[in-house]
Amino acid sequence: MAAAAWYQDGVLSFNEKLIEQYVKSQGRTLDDLGRDPKLLESLIRENVHVFVHEATHHRQDVWGKSQGLPHYGGEAAEKEAMMVEALFVLQKEHQDPSYARFLDDAQDRSILARMALGQSRRLQKDRADWFGESEMARCFPGGLSISGQVWSNGFAAPIQRELTRRARLPEAERRALEDARRFQESYASMDDVRKDIPLVGTKHLEKEFAKHKEAFEKSPDAYAAYMKRLRDVTELTDRRLDELDLPMQDAVPSPI
Ligand SMILES: [Zn+2]
Repeated sequence: MAAAAWYQDGVLSFNEKLIEQYVKSQGRTLDDLGRDPKLLESLIRENVHVFVHEATHHRQDVWGKSQGLPHYGGEAAEKEAMMVEALFVLQKEHQDPSYARFLDDAQDRSILARMALGQSRRLQKDRADWFGESEMARCFPGGLSISGQVWSNGFAAPIQRELTRRARLPEAERRALEDARRFQESYASMDDVRKDIPLVGTKHLEKEFAKHKEAFEKSPDAYAAYMKRLRDVTELTDRRLDELDLPMQDAVPSPI
């Protein structure tokens, strides 16, 4: 399923196609959203837990910047966002029975409702640690762990090695590499990036090295700060769960 929403650089975006699909499923058009507060409200209900998830990424970003840390997306960020999202669903159902009824009714037609129910029931049953296990592999395969982020900032090291190697080359060879091509737009893996380093022009390598150098140097502090944040958030989620003191509910199979 395409992402329902995403957060990047202070901007939280919703997938317009999914919004369009939703209003169509209600026999309406996107224009009706501006005219019909009830339709808008139902769309918000459908997406509110997604908003909480993405807003968590916003909070992570603001926190990381305020600490002067390099940005680490990936596994820890998603674990936290999923925990917060699932806890939100449990809290909101508890405080607002009409939301619980809405999810219950919507689960047959809405993948978003099934995800909200599936993850919140698992949080209730298996507690916050569950997000650290199979759920990550299923929802975000390839998302780098905190250690993986440190490793990817280690990208600075092979570039530096290549620059050092080039500096020792005979002048003609060195010149030829000076104006070689830039990095490609995207790569399938970090290994592919590393394999490409020897083919990239020296000035592009220097630019890339400058970009990664700072994150690389901050890696030890960043590793400790992100690990602590994840531990704290996991504990806090379990504490909030205890405070809610909910009756056990039936598990809902995950839609993905
Ligand atoms: Zn996320």
